Amino acid sequence: MSAKAAAPPLHMVDLILKKRNRGALDVREIGFIVAGAANESIPPEQLSAWLMAAWLNGLSLDETRALVVAMRDSGEKFDPSRLGKVAVDKHSTGGVGDKTSFLVAPLAAACGLAVPMISGRALGHTGGTLDKLESIPGFRTALTLKEFETVLGKCGASIISQTPTVVPADRVLYALRDRTGTVENPGLICASILSKKLAAGLDALVLDVKTGSGSFLRKRAESEYLAALMVATAEAAGTRTVALMTDMGQPLGRTAGNWIELAECVELMRGELPPESEDLRELSMRLAGWMIHLGGKTETAEMGYWAAAGALADGSALKVFLEMVKAQGGDAGVFDDLKGFHRPGATQVLEAWQSGYVAEMDTTALGWAVQRLGAGRERAEEPVDPHAGVEFHVKRGGRLERGQPVATLYATRRDLLAEPAALIKKAITFAGAPSDEVVPLVSHIFTKENAEAYLRETAPNS
Ligand code: URA
Repeated sequence: MSAKAAAPPLHMVDLILKKRNRGALDVREIGFIVAGAANESIPPEQLSAWLMAAWLNGLSLDETRALVVAMRDSGEKFDPSRLGKVAVDKHSTGGVGDKTSFLVAPLAAACGLAVPMISGRALGHTGGTLDKLESIPGFRTALTLKEFETVLGKCGASIISQTPTVVPADRVLYALRDRTGTVENPGLICASILSKKLAAGLDALVLDVKTGSGSFLRKRAESEYLAALMVATAEAAGTRTVALMTDMGQPLGRTAGNWIELAECVELMRGELPPESEDLRELSMRLAGWMIHLGGKTETAEMGYWAAAGALADGSALKVFLEMVKAQGGDAGVFDDLKGFHRPGATQVLEAWQSGYVAEMDTTALGWAVQRLGAGRERAEEPVDPHAGVEFHVKRGGRLERGQPVATLYATRRDLLAEPAALIKKAITFAGAPSDEVVPLVSHIFTKENAEAYLRETAPNS
């Protein structure tokens, strides 16, 4: 019997050329790239070239699924079974002012679930959960899996980063995508999100897939494809999953930045509800409602919504949040005086340049304004400014008279204010009359059944 011939060696340049020339990579080839990203044996310029080829030519369903599995398996995995609770999580495809994680994690934990959340940093024009959390002095996001388990056992919720040992391939590829204009691709987003979520060993997952001017995928069909792809892929891996298609046609809530987003969430958990934060509260309840339902605590998602509303009103979510901050080394004392802790280097109030109703918000441009005030980074590993960001004083459809405040900008330095102020001015358009259009906060929900049907009809190829 002849011995099986050894597979020929792989070379990264061949795989770049194959993708550049619109070829489809097989499981072994994808595994080679992911292993090389994780152990940093493939240099960043080659990974970046492959990412751009994948961005331009797309990834098939089979390539995407191979990428999810290889990235999930690129490091250590978490086993939540020892916690003795059902493990659920939520992840969003990224937005501006999108801070629901700080609400839904404690809400679900307060309702008796475990929420082992592996998150990301600022990406493209969107803010990062980890960067926001690190505005709390002392807060550690790079925990070992043992520490993660300890915090989860104590608080029910913990939010950590990818590390050199936990989903290391996403840590490297995520940072490269941020700097090489290769974020907005359904296959790459799906693999980035699901690798983190599946490595956390979740029983159930709720995905928040953004649509509208601030989402990575601007075309509705692309966002739908991403939602269906993620639901079907996570379900095939054994995790009960739903995706809510939600509006990102304006910043979520009142603030976009780092510390100011945490402060807005803590205000909500203390029962304050400024009108500009209402969409944030409602979306967080809807997402948490699904987490609580999929986690088996209620018969329906609507009952989950009311359980979450109870945990917000009775202060139990705030208690979990503050315990988690302390357990991860953070100084929870900064939440005693939300405004006092906010110390931006420079502040500017942008006044309405005309009277009228806010008709359109180019939310991607608003996100870039936030990043360029110092809330985001130009280079990987660069620190971000915890105090940079924007507080919006008006929502879409709201009326302002000329001279009334539109937004307050917080920057690291005075010279950083001009470009973001100009971006915001260009991004917001006023109309003489209010629009009749009602944009739903949640426009569609994908479950296993309708996601699989959607993919059968629309997948680019398999
Ligand atoms: N969130 C992630 O974790 N990855 C992406 O690619 C986009 C959003």
